[in-house]
Amino acid sequence: MAELKVLISRQDIATRVSELGAQITKDFAGQSIIFVGVLKGAAIFLSDLARQVALDCTFDFIGVSSYGNRPSPTQELKSGWDSTGEVKLTKDVDQSMKDKNVIVVEDILDTGLTLTVLKKLLLAHQPRTLKIAALLDKPSRRKLPLEGDYVGFKIPDEFVVGYGLDYAEKYRNLADICVVPRE
Ligand code: 5GP
Repeated sequence: MAELKVLISRQDIATRVSELGAQITKDFAGQSIIFVGVLKGAAIFLSDLARQVALDCTFDFIGVSSYGNRPSPTQELKSGWDSTGEVKLTKDVDQSMKDKNVIVVEDILDTGLTLTVLKKLLLAHQPRTLKIAALLDKPSRRKLPLEGDYVGFKIPDEFVVGYGLDYAEKYRNLADICVVPRE
């Protein structure tokens, strides 16, 4: 594979995550939060974000996989993928969300399909509030009208890895967010 190029440095990520944490702390002052991380990509973002929030909080995780016609990452790099497939739940939350402040933590908001499905699913648990925190956002790829409440960075239509994001399960442990060059 061609060399990865840094798009967002670890220092810039840390600064922005700390700003998001401060904003959440302010918005939910005096209340508690359940962070629901979307496996696996959001694991690193969730652990950094939660440590920047000075409130009582608990963690939960939800697992999804896309099936239908979402192609492999290799195809994505050549032609761009289309999330027209359905989203399948592979792991549900473990605790009750009823009357709680829930923040869904996602690595990247792309077409909006995953979070639209998750939002609907979590709203069925009747939380007091439901917000979306997404480290990255590719607005030009959106197919469903959905916005994040706490967004780290808006990025162009590039395939990125690192800081939790993978390419065929690799590169999740990179400290910077990098662009995989198109072939
Ligand atoms: P959506 O349902 O919004 O189209 O897609 C969200 C999911 O697509 C993300 O959670 C992530 O798994 C995957 N995704 C979208 N864009 C990228 C990208 O640039 N890099 C990686 N590694 N995954 C991406």
